[in-house]
Amino acid sequence: MAPAHPKAFVFRDTIMGRDTVSFSCHHTGHCCTDVVCLPTPWDVIRIVRQEGANPHEFLEFLKPGEIQGVTKGDPTWLKVGKERYIMALKRGKKGCHFLDKKTRYCSIYESRPILCRLYPFKLEEFRDGSFKGFSLHKDVGCPKHRDGKVDTIPLYELYLDDSIHQRDYNDLVDVFNGREYEGKAPEDFIEMFVQYVANARKK
Ligand code: SF4
Ligand code: SF4
Repeated sequence: MAPAHPKAFVFRDTIMGRDTVSFSCHHTGHCCTDVVCLPTPWDVIRIVRQEGANPHEFLEFLKPGEIQGVTKGDPTWLKVGKERYIMALKRGKKGCHFLDKKTRYCSIYESRPILCRLYPFKLEEFRDGSFKGFSLHKDVGCPKHRDGKVDTIPLYELYLDDSIHQRDYNDLVDVFNGREYEGKAPEDFIEMFVQYVANARKK
């Protein structure tokens, strides 16, 4: 028998509470119609590169009254004068900008944001903040079909990626919020992180 993947071994022996979460997606589409998706700049860059999509067409910037569940202290609020905004995937009356109107499936499935990949799973931590396992979000209305098994190792790897992306995101927002100039608009944030990635590539 082939030896276990070292990562899996460490994961199972030292961190993980469970190997699997009982769940299967029954493609109700709820998460793509009723839930606002908040991508990171890295998600946006991936969608632009792989799908050739224009970020000015698929992103929107929401004010506090237009979104629920994001705390006032969330580090990704973009400050423009006295207003603040959060970057989201644009939504229409029938849901996410990328939801295929005919098939009702995601039209950018391979490039979709990490948040969409993690949904509807929620990270559980012990009191000391260490990793415990994954469960299903309770408050988002996803039908809880328990007729499948989802491996938690890929979920944990996604979670780690997302943590790194979130740190970068916070740093970029800090730079944006520190800039004051006439005519500043939340959409300027897009140009800022695209430029940041272009400069990083040159180094
Ligand atoms: S809401 Fe849940 S069951 Fe419905 S499409 Fe999303 S993940 Fe699948
Ligand atoms: S990007 Fe795709 S998976 Fe994510 S909310 Fe939009 S349609 Fe759904």
